Amino acid sequence: MLPLGHLAGAYLFIKVTLRLFKNLSAKEKRQLLLFGTFVTLLPDLDLFYPLLKFGTIFTKKDVFDHHTLITHSLFFYLILSLIIYLYGSLRKKNFVKIFSLVFFAAIFSHLILDSFFIDYGPMWLYPFSQKNYGFIFPFPEKEEVSALEGLLSYFSHFVFHLEILLFLIALTVFIKKPF
Ligand SMILES: [Zn+2]
Repeated sequence: MLPLGHLAGAYLFIKVTLRLFKNLSAKEKRQLLLFGTFVTLLPDLDLFYPLLKFGTIFTKKDVFDHHTLITHSLFFYLILSLIIYLYGSLRKKNFVKIFSLVFFAAIFSHLILDSFFIDYGPMWLYPFSQKNYGFIFPFPEKEEVSALEGLLSYFSHFVFHLEILLFLIALTVFIKKPF
């Protein structure tokens, strides 16, 4: 999935999640929604690794798969979120506790979308299993494809149209009631 789809998915997911917290001020909700929408891109910063190593982010799975890095492991973010949550609990800061939940929800949204929009998704059960869970978009069979080839292949697939649809839904919601 492209950053646009991740941003749209996280925006919708965090907007719904924040409804659970009634005692947040409008300003806090705005801050958390903005934070959650953008922090969802964090796992994909690991794409700098293949970009620097292979000169492309589109590599065949057995050459390199960024979903096998800790940056795409739910377990890693669960630990991080728990640390932030515990800090909030110790300091009796409710906002920090909700912040940790929003952080986790944003990453969860990223990994869910990665599972649906590419045929090898994240290692959901890592460190207990290194199996990738994902389906729908078949990655090109060649050893390495250029960024352009990879993108063109994705653009011609129906999941790309689903991504556009997701973006349009988020855009409609944003125009009607942004926060
Ligand atoms: Zn990703």
